[in-house]
Amino acid sequence: MRTKVIYPNTAFERLQGIGLTSQRMRDRMVARQIEAGLEDQRVITAMRATPRHCFVDEALASRAYEDTALPIGFGQTISQPAVVATMTQALLLRQPKKVLEIGTGSGYQTAILAQLVPHLWTTERICELQQRAKRILMTLSLSNVHYRCEPTELGWAKAGKYDAILSAAAPEVVPESLIAQLAMGGRLIMPIGGTSQELVVIDKTPHGLLRHSLGDVLFVPLIEQDRI
Ligand code: SAH
Repeated sequence: MRTKVIYPNTAFERLQGIGLTSQRMRDRMVARQIEAGLEDQRVITAMRATPRHCFVDEALASRAYEDTALPIGFGQTISQPAVVATMTQALLLRQPKKVLEIGTGSGYQTAILAQLVPHLWTTERICELQQRAKRILMTLSLSNVHYRCEPTELGWAKAGKYDAILSAAAPEVVPESLIAQLAMGGRLIMPIGGTSQELVVIDKTPHGLLRHSLGDVLFVPLIEQDRI
C-alpha cells in the first residue's frame, strides 16, 4: 500500500520546509552570501533561521532560496537576499535600538530585522500585503514590531526619531521627511533613483549628512504620497 504524503502536512513542516524549502537550502543560500562578503554573524544567524519560502506564494516556494527578487502580488517584489544581507549589515553597524522600515512588502526583511533590533516600526501603503506579512511574523513569534498602513504619510513621524531607517522602495531623491525622522547620529539606508538606482547610506552627523554608495540596485519605486 502506498502512503499518501500531503505537503506540507503540519504547520510546523510548512515553517521548517522540506526539499527545496529545507534548512539545507537556507544554509546554502547564506553560504553564497558569505562568499560574496557577508560577515556579520548576527545577520548570518537570522538569515539561516528565517524561512523565506513562507513569505512567497506556495507556487514560488521552490525558488525561495535562489538569490533573486520574486513577485509577491500588487506589482511588488520580495527583496533579493543579497540586498537584504547588505542593507541589514550596514544598518547593524550603528547598533540601532529604534528602527523604521519603509515598505513591509512580504515581511521577509521585517522578520530579519525583528530578530536583530529591539524595537521595529514598519510602514506599508498596500494594507493587504502588510496584513499578510503581520500574520507570518506572528506565526514566527516575532512580536517586537509595530505595523502601520498609512498611504498619506511617508514614514511614521509620531513614533520617531529613529536610530536607523531602511527603505525597500526607491524615490528619485532622498526625502527630506525621512531625514527629519532620523535621530542625530542615525543612519538611513535606501535605494535612490529611477531606471538606474544606487543603494545609499546617509549618516546624520552634527557636521551634516555624510553619504556613501553600496552599489547599483533595482527596487520598486517609492510612492511618495497617495491621493485619497
Ligand atoms: N523588503 C520587502 C520589499 C517589498 S517591495 C520585501 O522583501 O518583501 C517595497 C514595498 O514598498 C512595496 O510593498 C510597496 O508597496 C512599498 N511602498 C512603496 N512606497 C511606499 C511608501 N510611500 N510607504 C510605505 N511603503 C511603500
